[in-house]
Amino acid sequence: MREFKKSSKLDNVLYDVRGPVADEAARMENEGLRILKLNIGNPAPFGFRTPDEVVHDMRQQLPDCEGYSDSRGLFSARKAIMQYAQLKHLPNVSMEHIYTGNGVSELIQLCMNVLLNTGDEILIPAPDYPLWTACATLAGGTPVHYLCDEDAEWTPDLADMESKITSNTKALVIINPNNPTGAVYPREVLEQIVEIARRHQLMIFSDEIYDRLCMDGYQHISIASLAPDLPCVTFSGLSKSHMVAGYRIGWMILSGNKRCMKDFIYGINMLSNMRLCSNVPAQSIVQTALGGYQSVERYVEPGGRIYDQRNFVYEALNDIDGITAVKPKAAFYIFPKIDVKKFNITDDEQFALDLLHEKHILITRGGGFNWPKPDHFRIVYLPRMGVLREAMTDLADFFAHYRQG
Ligand code: PLP
Repeated sequence: MREFKKSSKLDNVLYDVRGPVADEAARMENEGLRILKLNIGNPAPFGFRTPDEVVHDMRQQLPDCEGYSDSRGLFSARKAIMQYAQLKHLPNVSMEHIYTGNGVSELIQLCMNVLLNTGDEILIPAPDYPLWTACATLAGGTPVHYLCDEDAEWTPDLADMESKITSNTKALVIINPNNPTGAVYPREVLEQIVEIARRHQLMIFSDEIYDRLCMDGYQHISIASLAPDLPCVTFSGLSKSHMVAGYRIGWMILSGNKRCMKDFIYGINMLSNMRLCSNVPAQSIVQTALGGYQSVERYVEPGGRIYDQRNFVYEALNDIDGITAVKPKAAFYIFPKIDVKKFNITDDEQFALDLLHEKHILITRGGGFNWPKPDHFRIVYLPRMGVLREAMTDLADFFAHYRQG
């Protein structure tokens, strides 16, 4: 029989959050070892519960969710998303340009497929949530990474962003609040990004899936609200804000200048129709989930689990000699810096494997987020305080002797 090889389209696709180090952790678990998993942003297994009313709503509605919905989504879901868009001051939004998806993930892939021809460039942050780079590559486009600046609270380096624009650049992506850094971008930074997009006629994609998980009083601003004259696509969903990552529900909202998006919208409708519709039971809870204040918001307030765990991990990491970390303002990730000279690190995958083998702690290496140097890693601080305490003690012990003298 001939060998069945994967398509060459996948040659440059990287998705390391569930990559080789995670595979090695799974192998170790199969051998009976206990692994402290600080690698995946999936709230439910760590005891973060969906608001009761959301689960109740899903139960009630399940019998009526047997059929396909409109390919963009149920009217009730899109109506609630419409109101959400209005509260976030997104300009020129209409029901027909709101699309639900099986998570934001599906919609990212859909957009990249619709927009990018071979050779088209798209600006994506480094570090990024790697699905953006993976989907742009898979679609045949060329992801070009602009740096985010650790010394400026991980906001985008605007000079770097602009210097990377060429005549082939079609769009720019921001992830705000950010995974993996926890940054929330201030209005002035967003305004300058809009200015760059305006100058170079770029479409803006803004991934805002963590917009309800801001801490310390930071107010999230949707970049689309500042760009009424530009084509914008804003992504969000319930996976993180409502701890229902397994239900698979996200959405995207087209706003701003629709005249220049006519053909893009034609393509979006075509691919949206081809996938028939997103998971209907999950769509059925959107209206309830977006309906006002809910218990999930307490997690990010002082005394809430995400807030307290963030403070603990931030301090514990900065107490380790050779590690520094910027305090995250949102979401549930931290992206610490390693003094690579001190530890003689040149390969962050090897570092992640060493940590896994020695301390049975699974983190994601910075390179997994398209960060260009081997000097960062990401920790998910969702596990309970007891687990995090154990992990931070082990991490401190690991760095106390790793590759030194
Ligand atoms: N965007 C970002 C920045 C994420 O971190 C994630 C998941 O971790 C996603 C999108 C995907 O979310 P969804 O569950 O809606 O597919």
